[in-house]
This record gives sequence, structure tokens and C-alpha cells, in this order.
Amino acid sequence: MDFPITRAAALKAKPDPSTLVFGKTFTDHMFLMDYHAGQGWHDGRIVPYAPFQLDPSCMVFHYAQEVFEGMKAYRTPEGKIQLFRPIENARRINSSCERMCIPQIDENLFVEAVKALVKVEADWVPDQKGTSLYIRPFIIATDASLGVHASHSYCFCIICCPVGSYYPEGINPVKIYIENDDVRAVRGGTGYTKCGGNYAASIRAGERAEEQGYSQVLWLDGVHRKYIEEVGAMNVLFKLDGKVVTPALEGSVLPGITRKSCLELLRSWGVPVEERRITAEELFDAAQAGKLEEAWGSGTAAVVSPIGELAWGERKVTIHGGKIGALTQKLYDTLTGIQWGTQPDPFGWVVKLD
Ligand SMILES: *Cc1c(COP(=O)(O)O)cnc(C)c1O
Repeated sequence: MDFPITRAAALKAKPDPSTLVFGKTFTDHMFLMDYHAGQGWHDGRIVPYAPFQLDPSCMVFHYAQEVFEGMKAYRTPEGKIQLFRPIENARRINSSCERMCIPQIDENLFVEAVKALVKVEADWVPDQKGTSLYIRPFIIATDASLGVHASHSYCFCIICCPVGSYYPEGINPVKIYIENDDVRAVRGGTGYTKCGGNYAASIRAGERAEEQGYSQVLWLDGVHRKYIEEVGAMNVLFKLDGKVVTPALEGSVLPGITRKSCLELLRSWGVPVEERRITAEELFDAAQAGKLEEAWGSGTAAVVSPIGELAWGERKVTIHGGKIGALTQKLYDTLTGIQWGTQPDPFGWVVKLD
């Protein structure tokens, strides 16, 4: 697949990789593709990174008909660039599109578009330990019209930003707060999609958690308000009495690619894994009985983020003495080894750029 490339007239200075702040610096180019009813997706192209001009009545501004993805390009020790399971992002954006009545994109075209843009921006993929190029594909509804129905036109865009190491000072377990009032998603809603609306609804609880000194919110299910769902932008896994348990995917939880990769690795190591419902009560009781051995979040940004403390109303527990556990560490080392190409890739997860 060949996409026409319009080069930026002047290239930006590359930021210092040791001081990179997530999501603030964008590369020189972006990928664009348009959709019009009757015409389908057309005119995939790479152009200089620049602001959009959109009509104020544009549907995405009013009804949030929008989906996105998050993935990374990694620099290997040989200086090559590789992606991690990009076809999974292509499948997931299409699953999100289906729910939001957005026309789907051919999965190979999606991956080829990502590869083409990253090739143009190859110099932006940093090479310091733990750094990467974050890739944000997204689709917005562009009909200039108020009135709630599916748009007839869309814009698919991919932007990239270099990101520093998530753990510049080593892995520090995080403190997480279980939210009792706001809910993120219910079955039948959009919880399993990556759509901006889910995040808009989560901001208030995130602010409350921060005010109380917690870094993220752990959501409970929206119906019974007792089953664990996930953390902010991460899925959550627990080592409970020798087994790994994680909430089952029942429509309200985002099907994370890092979650899936953790489960596949754990199964390959012979670790018993259960995908099921877990109540907050069960977790806190297990912690009191000394059986909550490890807990961690999983997501593209952090890979694996150990949870050192959980708070639920008046109840608070410390997990693994507030330090990363051995299994969490092994998952982190294995996943990052595969992603950055310092370890073999037995599952064929990596897609090399050249
Ligand atoms: C993206 C995301 C995740 C993690 O998914 P990965 O594919 O592992 O990055 C988890 N929860 C939510 C709500 C997300 O948006």
C-alpha cells in the first residue's frame, strides 16, 4: 500500500528524551484518510502535522461519535523499529467502530497506515532505555450537522508523540482508590470500546482520587457496585492464593492487549489463570487473610504497573509490602523484552518495520 507523502517544509527540533512529558510533543507528520457515504474510506495520505479546520456544528463536538487507539513503536538494540501486536489494535478499533456506528477500516490498511507513518517519522523513535514513540490513531465524525444520527463523513487520523520512560526512577507501586459513587460503564454501554466519552465520564472520579493522594481510580461494576472492573486506562490483575484472577470481559471492561498478552504468557508458564467476577469484598478479605499476593494494572503506557496500596472506603490494604512482586516483575521483564527486542518473541507478536 502506497500513501502519498507531503513532507513538512521545516522539521521540528527533537526533544531531549530524558525530559519528555507524555502527550505534549508531536512529530512532524500525520496520517489522514477520509470517509464519505457512497465512497467509503479514501485518500489515505501523510501530510505535515497541523491543526484541523472543522465546522463548529461538526458531529464529534456535540455527540462524541469518536473512537481511538493507543500503541507504540519501539527501538531495538540494533537500531531497528518494531510494533507490538498492531493487528490487535486494528481489530479493536473496528470493534469500537461497530458500537459507535462508525464505518470500519480494513485491518491491513490500518496496520499499513501506522507502519507508513512511523517510517516517515523514524527519526522520532527515541533510543534511550524505556522510551518509545506513542501512536494515537483516531476517527471522528465530521458531518456539519446537529441532529442525532450516524455521521455520513469521517476523518481517520494518526498522530505520534515520543514518550520517555514510564519508570525513570525504577518501578514504584501505585496507590489506587476504589470508586463507590461514579461508574464508568455498564453492560450494553460503551465500556468495551476505546471512545472519548468513556474518559469524559471518568474525569470527576479521577480528580477526587488525586485530591486524596491516590494516583488512579479502580472502578466497580455499574449495576451491583461490587465487582472489580478496571483501573483508569489499565486492566487489573491479581495474584490470589497462587492463581492469577482478572475480571472477565463481559462488555463493560476494555479488552486490553497488554491484559491479553499477560494472560497468554501466564498460561504458557503454567500459572493458573481465572477470568471471572471478583468482588471488592473478596479482595479485601483475601488481603486480610494474607492471600492477596500481588496486584498490578496492565496497559500500553506502563506495560505493567504494580499496585502497592488499595483503599475502599475506610478499608485500606498494602499489597506485597508496597513493593513489586516476583510474578509482576517477570511479566514486566518479559513483555518489555519482547517489545524492545531484547528477548526472543516466541508468539510472533512483534512486527518489524523493515
Ligand atoms: C486502552 C485501555 C486499556 C489498556 O489497553 P491496552 O491495549 O493494554 O493498552 C485499559 N482500559 C482502558 C479503559 C483503556 O482505554
